[in-house]
Amino acid sequence: MKLLGKLLDYTFLSKNLCKICGKEFEPEDQGFICEVCLSTLKPYEFFEDYRDIPYVDSYEFFGKYDGILRDVIILYKFQSVKPLSKIIAKILEEPLMDFWDNLKPDIFTYVPVHFIRWFSRGYDHNEEVLKLLNIPYRKILRRKKYAKPLAGYGKTERERIIMNAYEVLNSEEIRGKRILVYDDILTTGSTAKNIAKILKESGAKEVHFYFLVKE
Ligand SMILES: [Zn+2]
Repeated sequence: MKLLGKLLDYTFLSKNLCKICGKEFEPEDQGFICEVCLSTLKPYEFFEDYRDIPYVDSYEFFGKYDGILRDVIILYKFQSVKPLSKIIAKILEEPLMDFWDNLKPDIFTYVPVHFIRWFSRGYDHNEEVLKLLNIPYRKILRRKKYAKPLAGYGKTERERIIMNAYEVLNSEEIRGKRILVYDDILTTGSTAKNIAKILKESGAKEVHFYFLVKE
């Protein structure tokens, strides 16, 4: 089965065109983005626009939502190019591990998608990234309210959509705990705020976030 997978990979991925720059390249562990484009995905080092999010004790993000990183996220999240989770996990590994190491959270988790989204996409884009990282994680939240993607909505509208959209699976499990939550895009902070609020109301001691990008 493994060999068959390799053969299929080889057949489909050899002489690939980079999804970003369009140039032909020899795929190594993935066939979507060339090494040149990949090498531009570096952590963002300036936090001059750090803004507090209510209920969130601290947060960090890998990069800004623009350029090649934005293209990668759009392909991964909105066009369901699942293998890109490997690229995201690869670039996140070090900075996220550093953040995790400093924080030493009791629980590492992610913002889940609604079942309908999971079913239509075939995977949970956030969990898929966590599966590839070397950090144990646990699902502690459930998205109970279905909504269209938030992109394009203003802050007030987002707040309304996100309100009561998530629930804690088992509050016993999180009581007194320091929790680190992974999410892909930080826009207005409405989702993070809402999640941190319900986690704290359910007894969590601290809630921290790590985002792939800040918009
Ligand atoms: Zn390229």
